Amino acid sequence: MGLAVCVGCGETKEGAFDVCDGCGLDPARGGTDRMLQARSLWLSERFFSERELVELGRKLSTGEPVAYDTGQLSRLVDELKTQKLPVISQASPGCSIVTWSLLGMLLALAAGLAYLYGTWKH
Ligand SMILES: [Zn+2]
Repeated sequence: MGLAVCVGCGETKEGAFDVCDGCGLDPARGGTDRMLQARSLWLSERFFSERELVELGRKLSTGEPVAYDTGQLSRLVDELKTQKLPVISQASPGCSIVTWSLLGMLLALAAGLAYLYGTWKH
């Protein structure tokens, strides 16, 4: 997950669709508000460097106007329309931990079976 900026208050956060710690804005829960999601996605490391994001966040927090790239935003809206859910998918850490522990259990099981098979043969 890359750095992103909350479109509501300019607070920096971990991912474009994360709930904001500052104002509680949750772009993913915006539902059909694709423009909100597009803006959230636009204000992320996908389009800006960390330094630029911090600067944009500062502008948002002080109420300065931020020049949204409308062309880019409409492309993002189109992109979001083709997806059922906003890109939260990029395997959350919790998800991969479950995968790895399952894999570990399977390996242990396989090792156990191999051991049993070995003792059975002798
Ligand atoms: Zn916020």
